[in-house]
Amino acid sequence: MSLTPVDPTKPYDPENIFAKILRGEIPSTKVYEDEWAYAFNDIAPVAPIHVLVIPKNGYVSWDDFSEKAPAEEIAGFIRAVGKVARQLGLVEEGYRLINNIGPNGGQIVPHIHVHLMGGRVMGPMLT
Ligand code: 5GP
Repeated sequence: MSLTPVDPTKPYDPENIFAKILRGEIPSTKVYEDEWAYAFNDIAPVAPIHVLVIPKNGYVSWDDFSEKAPAEEIAGFIRAVGKVARQLGLVEEGYRLINNIGPNGGQIVPHIHVHLMGGRVMGPMLT
């Protein structure tokens, strides 16, 4: 995997690794899927539960998604993230959602993804 930070102003690249996962060209461990979203285990988990939730359509970043996606799709995606957390039984003990955007955000893969992490107490978000 390239560790080059994402340029959030560039057009969507349909050859990015998550696009290939969505097309089934690269294997992934599915956690949840519906009309709007696909969720799978992160390949390098930083918590006992570390799932990536992605929209099924191609958007580079939160910026791209929030500007261009139809309201129905945004709502469907946000609901899907909540469904994944409930399916994993994380609601009571809590969990963390992270979305990295562009170079300063630490985004590496140019297909918007929400990190859903749980199963341990998370530290402060100061770095
Ligand atoms: P970012 O830094 O872009 O927010 O996070 C990208 C995430 O994607 C990282 O946590 C990384 O471990 C994960 N990742 C990168 N390549 C793959 C892959 O091929 N499969 C899976 N399941 N996760 C990946």
